[in-house]
Amino acid sequence: MKTIGLIGGMSWESSLEYYRIINEKVKNELGSFHSAKLVLYSLDFEEIQTLQHEDKWDELTLIMKDAAKTLEKAGADIILICTNTMHKMADDVQDNITVPLIHIADATAESILLNGLKKAGLLGTKFTMEHDFYKKRLTDKFGIDVIIPDESDRDIIHKALYSELCIGEIIESSKKEFLRIIDNLVEKGAEGIILGCTEIPLLVKQSDVSVPVFDTTAIHAEKAVKEALK
Ligand code: GLU
Repeated sequence: MKTIGLIGGMSWESSLEYYRIINEKVKNELGSFHSAKLVLYSLDFEEIQTLQHEDKWDELTLIMKDAAKTLEKAGADIILICTNTMHKMADDVQDNITVPLIHIADATAESILLNGLKKAGLLGTKFTMEHDFYKKRLTDKFGIDVIIPDESDRDIIHKALYSELCIGEIIESSKKEFLRIIDNLVEKGAEGIILGCTEIPLLVKQSDVSVPVFDTTAIHAEKAVKEALK
């Protein structure tokens, strides 16, 4: 079994999910006492979210490159960045290590295509919804048409992510807002919805939504196990 390296803490609420899903999947695949070989580099999300909101992406890139390098030195054979947003610098991180980085958008795109869908709605932080790095990759590399909520709904989602979900607060009224926003995207033609922030699956489940949802946390974690057991 290969050793999985996780860059986590963004937030730790979702890193916990990565840890659980990866170990459950290894146990399902191998049985008995098996668990994942894993190294976790957990960052302080206060520092990260402050730099994000100050638009200091160069500094964030250095932090992510350093974390990945440290995981590689610690024996990781494959590396995951446990957040969609921080894939903004994924290519720089990959260039700085010799082991593969499993890209969360690639794993998600493969799952969307496997389900036969071509047009998906994307929910995430404003960085993920508005900057190019995520949508463009889905479109240019995989031919997936991506639609996002309008500006006021993007604000609602972003606010709920940073002031609730990333600090472990699951609030029913926010869930209603997320479901309303999802319905709007489905009306605009989304055949599926990407839960493109690793905390959203704590709030929104497949059973809440009429079209397929793509839980990026689970998809990413499961892809890592598949690679680790190859
Ligand atoms: N976990 C979130 C994501 O998947 C947000 C935290 C972050 O800004 O990195 O994008």
